[in-house]
Amino acid sequence: MKEIGILGGGAAGYFASILISESKNLKITLLEKNSEPLGKVKISGGGRCNVTHHLFDPILLCEKYPRGSKELRYAFEKFQPKDMIEWLEKKSVSLKTESDGRMFPVSNSSSTIIECFQKEAKNSGVNIFLNKNIEKIIYSEKKFILKTESEEFYFDKLLIATGSNKRVWSMLEEMGHKIEKAVPSLFTLNIENENLTSLTGLSVKNAEVKIYPKGKPQTGPILITHWGLSGPAVLRLSAWEAKEFAEENYNLKIKINWLGKTNSEEFQKILLNTKKDHANKKIISINFEFPSRLWSYFLNLANIDSEKIWSSISNSEIHSLKEIITNHILDVNGKGVFKEEFVTCGGINRKEINFNTMESKIIPGLFFAGEVIDVDGITGGFNFQNAWTTAFLASRGMIY
Ligand SMILES: Cc1cc2nc3c(=O)[nH]c(=O)nc-3n(C[C@H](O)[C@H](O)[C@H](O)COP(=O)(O)OP(=O)(O)OC[C@H]3O[C@@H](n4cnc5c(N)ncnc54)[C@H](O)[C@@H]3O)c2cc1C
Repeated sequence: MKEIGILGGGAAGYFASILISESKNLKITLLEKNSEPLGKVKISGGGRCNVTHHLFDPILLCEKYPRGSKELRYAFEKFQPKDMIEWLEKKSVSLKTESDGRMFPVSNSSSTIIECFQKEAKNSGVNIFLNKNIEKIIYSEKKFILKTESEEFYFDKLLIATGSNKRVWSMLEEMGHKIEKAVPSLFTLNIENENLTSLTGLSVKNAEVKIYPKGKPQTGPILITHWGLSGPAVLRLSAWEAKEFAEENYNLKIKINWLGKTNSEEFQKILLNTKKDHANKKIISINFEFPSRLWSYFLNLANIDSEKIWSSISNSEIHSLKEIITNHILDVNGKGVFKEEFVTCGGINRKEINFNTMESKIIPGLFFAGEVIDVDGITGGFNFQNAWTTAFLASRGMIY
């Protein structure tokens, strides 16, 4: 009987072990270094576990991955959120969808997912060994030898599902794999600007933010916090530009268009029309749906007396105001943590993996799933979906 090893009892490792056990003629052993498996699942989504996202079109889905979108495009044809929802449903776990598309267990508790996985793994006869910190991996004569301080395990095929564990990445590097440097993804931005941070709690529904001067813009809500900026557009920017931020040590400039897609010229025209149409109204009273304190902040920065009327606004004041609102440049002074979900980008170079089977192109019989690979998604359940999808593909690759 062939012996299958799974290194890492997290989301990807556990799910893969259950799927592989569908094949009855394999002996499956899962090795986890902690005394409890599925540690990240437990704390994920603020303890609620954002399992996946209500997005079922593989083309749209793969756009949610700053690294890995090309490879996942095909992978999602084989296993996507719908498949995970169905799989859980069959195991009597129902998910619910929130207004932004994130999906959670109806119970609102990550323990529902943990209990389901543990029950399934136990019933399927997966051998689970906890407290096994693997310190060395040797590939010799078509066998994988995994060593802890005092024990050795032998396998015919091995799945690496160790998440962003740096020691395992080094072991894999020694075995000939290329590792893309790990840097954080999904973080908030620190901005040392008291005038801005005193507006903590205010948000704008549809703004655009990018790294200045060059960078790909991200749109969506921006939230002002007591340390700087957060919100979906900022988190998206942190994910897509994770490497750029790291290279600059989180000290660079960003540009915000607080009006989203309305550009500078269009806004200039809107301001000139407002001057004409609302000549006798106070400038403070027409705020273009910005929160009033934010509108005052913009007027202040443009040196405009908010109590005067629109007819008295000068052309140079209109110019300054539209620049501040559509080309607002801010200095970033470090990053914060997005507590709901913390993700690392980097990992095994994607070119060295066959994404049909998740098998290494360097070492036959070696497979990968989850965050150990240089794939990461934006916030919203996409990182777990990567774990489920790659675990599914690896399970099929290892069975056949
Ligand atoms: C606070 C937080 C909240 C999150 N919330 C969400 C969310 O709601 N939705 C979402 O999609 N994503 C979320 N994420 C991201 C998500 O948790 C990860 O993308 C996902 O867990 C990756 O799964 P994995 O199996 O690849 O790695 P992991 O879940 O990290 O599992 C790796 C396992 O390998 C074990 N291991 C490592 N090295 C060794 C070794 N040498 N020997 C033995 N065992 C080893 C580890 O102990 C661990 O159990 C969150 C992350 C964090 C930190």
